[in-house]
Amino acid sequence: MTVANNLAQIQETIKKACSSSGRDPENVTIISVTKYVSLEKTKEAIEAGIHHIGENRLEGALEKWEAFQGQAGFHFIGSLQSKKVKHLVGKYDYYHSLDRLSLAKELQKRCPENQKLQCFVQVNVSGEASKAGLAPEETIDFIKQLKNYPAIQVIGLMTMAPFKEDPEDTRPVFRRLRHLRDKIRELRLEHAPCNELSMGMSNDFHVAVEEGATYIRLGSTLVGRE
Ligand SMILES: *Cc1c(COP(=O)(O)O)cnc(C)c1O
Repeated sequence: MTVANNLAQIQETIKKACSSSGRDPENVTIISVTKYVSLEKTKEAIEAGIHHIGENRLEGALEKWEAFQGQAGFHFIGSLQSKKVKHLVGKYDYYHSLDRLSLAKELQKRCPENQKLQCFVQVNVSGEASKAGLAPEETIDFIKQLKNYPAIQVIGLMTMAPFKEDPEDTRPVFRRLRHLRDKIRELRLEHAPCNELSMGMSNDFHVAVEEGATYIRLGSTLVGRE
């Protein structure tokens, strides 16, 4: 299967999920997660019409950025160690795993003056010990504290659902993230418009879209694994 074929199928699935939930497919952005694949495969994705690239490790992140800067938006989706921030700021456009003030402080320190970093606050909705992110009940307080770091713009929330045989079982996780997003949005915080939801991966993105995902992060189903 070519990436273009996979993309056509994925877009069909997104359309169906949008029509069953009264949404506009225009509001769902696909991030092509290229952590499993080569530069050639990444190029194929861009040529197929992908405008957003996601990476979760520093090395791969820099390699893909060097090769394709200017041709896509770049999303750092992995858990981010503070010492790696300086290598990414100025290159990566979006940070999906903001979950502690020490990381906010480092992002602030490395960000050029008067620029903003578009961040998602990561929430561990399912409470699995192996997953990063804040507990839902800590999230609002955390976001309020981010006001002290003017470089940080909280554009939305991100979560990783637990893997389930039946993707339908992930629905409560996505729904809870949406409700939390709605609550934060209602606060009308200038530093945290929080309009976006980064949720849904290869196995469960149709459910995430039905529950309001605005960014879906697709690896294996889009570009495969090499
Ligand atoms: C790897 C990864 C994905 C994509 O995983 P697939 O199941 O291959 O779609 C999405 N989000 C994060 C944070 C990842 O690390």
